[in-house]
Amino acid sequence: MSYPPPVEELVEAFEALPGIGRVSAERLTFHVLRDARSGGSLRDALARCLAEARRCVECGNVSEGDLCPVCSDDERDATTIAVVEEPRHVESLERAGVFSGRYHVLMGALNPADGTEERHLSIGALVERVRKGGVTEVILATDPDKEGEATALLVLEALESAGLPDLRVTRLARGLPAGSAIEYLHKGVLEDALEDRRQVRRR
Ligand SMILES: [Zn+2]
Repeated sequence: MSYPPPVEELVEAFEALPGIGRVSAERLTFHVLRDARSGGSLRDALARCLAEARRCVECGNVSEGDLCPVCSDDERDATTIAVVEEPRHVESLERAGVFSGRYHVLMGALNPADGTEERHLSIGALVERVRKGGVTEVILATDPDKEGEATALLVLEALESAGLPDLRVTRLARGLPAGSAIEYLHKGVLEDALEDRRQVRRR
């Protein structure tokens, strides 16, 4: 037995999202069908987000205009770039108020299991950005888990191959809870990890 096509299609669309299994997808589908108001606001928010959200041309973060608020803020230190995996990591660092530089958002981490490869990450754009000049330090602020470490190494290699002799490349301090995600760390832990960052450049 299966649902009528319009219903089945929505179940499958929910199911295709990360972290949603078949049962949750059915639950969400019947919730929006039952509750017209939440169904309508989901439809409107989804349409608006798809139509109006874009990626900042400078850092790759989600943005409403061409430049995100951080990149358009002249008060931010443009000499230091923190490389993060996702927009939500920018949010965490901004909420903690521990970083005054700029960001570069890769939009993912190296993860062969979910099909995220080097070509999906905006590493080339980062190298171009640093090549333009004015950047003295890149902080690898990817998660301290397996994927985050592999991604940090990939970015490090790309920066090393690009030459850029005066560029400092650092990694958040060790001592972060292993396998933790930046977004769940407290302000104090993030502050220490940034403060005690170490040089990782080898050549
Ligand atoms: Zn930006």
